[in-house]
Amino acid sequence: MIRAIHFDARTEFRARRLPGSVHFTDPGTDRVSYMWFFCPCGCGALDHILTGVEFRPQSGVPSWLWNGSRTEPTLRPSVRRQPHWHGWLRDGYWEAC
Ligand SMILES: [Zn+2]
Repeated sequence: MIRAIHFDARTEFRARRLPGSVHFTDPGTDRVSYMWFFCPCGCGALDHILTGVEFRPQSGVPSWLWNGSRTEPTLRPSVRRQPHWHGWLRDGYWEAC
């Protein structure tokens, strides 16, 4: 397991480049956000996925349900980054599966 360290500040998030670290954009009134993250495998890749607070946005692209917590985030379903990594983000920890 690897801690999904959360950064409020995007500049610090991008500068530190910690594997599995996360930064959420402001969900706003539509409760839709992007979760930016560095691949938990340690390859250094930066990625982002579409999330909704307690729902999966229907926008024609893959999306995830987010529990709305930045410090202890949980996403459903699991996150797959071919061919690097596949696992779950639960309660602020990445768990490979
Ligand atoms: Zn990777």
